[in-house]
Amino acid sequence: MSEPHSPAFDTDILIAGGGLAGATLALALAHRLPQLRVTVVEAFPLSPDARPEDYQPSYDARSTALAWGSRLIYDDLGLWSSLSPHATPIRRIHVSDRGRFGATRLSAEEHGQDALGYVVDNRLLGLALMRALGEQPSVSWKAPAKVVGVEPLSEGVTARLEQDDESSSLTARCLVVADGGRSGLREQLGFNVETSEYGQNALIANVTFSHPHDFVAYERFTDAGPLALLPRGKPGRAGREAALVWTLADAALEETLALDEGERLARLQARFGWRLGRFVKMGECAHYPLTLTTVQEAVRPGIVLVGNAAHTLHPVAGQGFNLALRGLMTLVEAFEQATASARPLGDMGVLQGYQARHRQDQRDTVRFSDSLIQIFGHHSRALSAARDAGLVGMDLVPGARRWFARRAMGLGPNAAGRSAGKRS
Ligand SMILES: Cc1cc2nc3c(=O)[nH]c(=O)nc-3n(C[C@H](O)[C@H](O)[C@H](O)COP(=O)(O)OP(=O)(O)OC[C@H]3O[C@@H](n4cnc5c(N)ncnc54)[C@H](O)[C@@H]3O)c2cc1C
Repeated sequence: MSEPHSPAFDTDILIAGGGLAGATLALALAHRLPQLRVTVVEAFPLSPDARPEDYQPSYDARSTALAWGSRLIYDDLGLWSSLSPHATPIRRIHVSDRGRFGATRLSAEEHGQDALGYVVDNRLLGLALMRALGEQPSVSWKAPAKVVGVEPLSEGVTARLEQDDESSSLTARCLVVADGGRSGLREQLGFNVETSEYGQNALIANVTFSHPHDFVAYERFTDAGPLALLPRGKPGRAGREAALVWTLADAALEETLALDEGERLARLQARFGWRLGRFVKMGECAHYPLTLTTVQEAVRPGIVLVGNAAHTLHPVAGQGFNLALRGLMTLVEAFEQATASARPLGDMGVLQGYQARHRQDQRDTVRFSDSLIQIFGHHSRALSAARDAGLVGMDLVPGARRWFARRAMGLGPNAAGRSAGKRS
């Protein structure tokens, strides 16, 4: 049986990837298990000492809709006070089918909350995480550096690293793979991946319009694919800016990117309508191909996959990182229990216990996101009628709306123990 700080290992937990998931896990471990040594290896020059402009690619120009449950997690980790001045509250969510009858509105008030969720710039989230990690003596960073190979040990792993054109190795009691959706390590380690292509891309940009957003997030399903607008700006003042996630098939994406800004705005206007007045500006556009990726088994002896390496979802429902966060906290709980009962951190029983607890949440969240896309992505008349009925039904049946709102608020099964009470 190995003890924490066992001299046999260079570190207790090695995290491959210091993006949103890896950095948050490092912070959670530092808070909850400060006796463990945590090492984060990140391929980009991303570290508590890096300049904000270097925070790529996890901390790029995108925004993330943090669900209410995620806010509670960051509260527990002491990060919320530095995020809240920059977090735009979502007070209502308007889900609708452009040009059709059905629509549903969810409001924070109805659920006794200040907000259903918050929109935070990835860059600011990254900056807050890096600053908080800089104060944690139990966390050390290697960046830019890469984990390029992993060998199992009887208990734990040896990871091969590359940094500054030099190779080295590091032993760890457990390796957490947080290297993102195109996880090279997942592939190298032969994890079984299930991927379905949506045949669509997400075009991302910040947009400005003439009416105040009034802290409403829009999820709009159109015949050409779903689009989401997340309110941005100062928390206390309803601004006229939103983060756009616009789903487009390959040909439509190319066509849209070839347009000038005015033409692109006109196309968006036609797609979204006039609820926010006239679209007047679109910032720099980025785009990502959309896939649904999951792994059957996310654990091996001494190894666990988290974040996008474990699951990549369609972004329009804003669930991917929120799901990842709940998984990270479940993993930390499993490590706490292992430490309390002096079991090895990489023990298969410990990691399978984590997986079993996270699995249902993952299945439900994947189903929720995917079904939104499948139902609303179809053009058939029968399905159009069904989705009208679904949206209208959701407005009429309080239980259905509550279910939908709980998912949107990121209150999965693992949040049950956390207070969902009103906080300011
Ligand atoms: C357009 C879009 C909008 C989204 N909006 C939302 C939203 O509103 N709400 C939400 O909950 N989710 C959202 N998501 C999902 C969210 O962005 C992801 O869940 C999140 O970025 C995953 O973070 P990650 O740390 O797992 O992966 P990544 O952000 O990809 O980070 C992986 C890190 O690992 C590093 N790395 C890679 N290989 C190695 C290696 N071998 N060694 C060391 N380091 C390595 C990389 O440099 C990177 O920093 C959205 C996604 C997209 C595409």
